[in-house]
Amino acid sequence: MSTSNMQSIQHSNYSDIYHLLYNNDKLAKQDIADQLNLSLPTVTSNLQRLIEQGLVIKNGQLKSLIGRRATAYSINANGLLGVGIEIFRNYATVAILNLKNEVQLLHTFELPFSNTTEYCQTLSNQLLNLIEDHNIQPQQILSAGIGIQGLISNDGNTILYGKILDCEGMKTSDFAQYLPFSVTFYHDADCVAIAEHVSLPTDGIFMSIGEHLGTAIILNNQILKSSSGRNGTMEHISLNSRDGRLCYCGRRGCIETYCSLNSLLHDNETTESFFDKLNQNDQEVRQRFETYLDYLAQSIYNLHMFVDIPIILAGEITKYLTTEILTDLKNRLKELSVFPEDESYLQFGSVLKHSVAIGASIPAIQNKINNI
Ligand SMILES: [Zn+2]
Repeated sequence: MSTSNMQSIQHSNYSDIYHLLYNNDKLAKQDIADQLNLSLPTVTSNLQRLIEQGLVIKNGQLKSLIGRRATAYSINANGLLGVGIEIFRNYATVAILNLKNEVQLLHTFELPFSNTTEYCQTLSNQLLNLIEDHNIQPQQILSAGIGIQGLISNDGNTILYGKILDCEGMKTSDFAQYLPFSVTFYHDADCVAIAEHVSLPTDGIFMSIGEHLGTAIILNNQILKSSSGRNGTMEHISLNSRDGRLCYCGRRGCIETYCSLNSLLHDNETTESFFDKLNQNDQEVRQRFETYLDYLAQSIYNLHMFVDIPIILAGEITKYLTTEILTDLKNRLKELSVFPEDESYLQFGSVLKHSVAIGASIPAIQNKINNI
């Protein structure tokens, strides 16, 4: 056997053992040997390497089938961490996730956004202080992902379009120069899709409904991307470009102006106060919500006609979505439907808050796991 074949088998054993442990809470050596059909010495030497590299830990004892106690092994889930940051107009939220995509920390900084050096430096310093306050070593951080309302270059380094925050032209180096780890930008809607996809691993159109609307398509576990960063930005499909409502993009009638929370809420309202009034059966609020659901159903239906994959409603609105609203939307979809079909393609997401920050941290984690 050639040396390269030998190395490849050795790496594959190492990788298989790590991934088996990743998908189990804890296992003894003998379990690993049995499940992967490997010899005990092979398992022992690979575990030793994984422990030395900080990827696996000894984790108590397990009782074997013959009653003897054996050392249990687990992945070192908290040994390496991903950082995600969602940047909005008046605040930034940091999410820190471990290698199992479990949220370890969520923290919000009240920090008005500006496309300036001072902003990048202040946010970077606040992030470093937060990490230090929680006894996290900078070398534990795989990378920081920044989720922002803007379209991002394919390499994740430049904001190509950002009218909401006026963030066009920002570069990851604006932040990375103050940080001891790498930084990548992500379109905020992509982050929401990635956060949902972890617990709902399906192809889908992920409609993220927050202050603004964002959409992203996941196919074969990958966000559908293009060099202009524009794939999946269905929020600017226009339903009436001549007389429709004015969108921040400069055109009229975009889905954004009918299905975002901005389009639903009055100036003095929060999402919470709106749904409180809805639950108290406030007639004016009920009427407004009926109109909103009509537009939402039409938008969902149009997207469904274009690509026949699940459509997942996610983002800030998620925590207010009830099974009653799901049934209501499905009934509206049924009335719009040209073809005989059920409406099971419509689903609701499950990440109730800060899905942009959570999703922004996940690619670095997935990349690390895939490369072990
Ligand atoms: Zn628009």
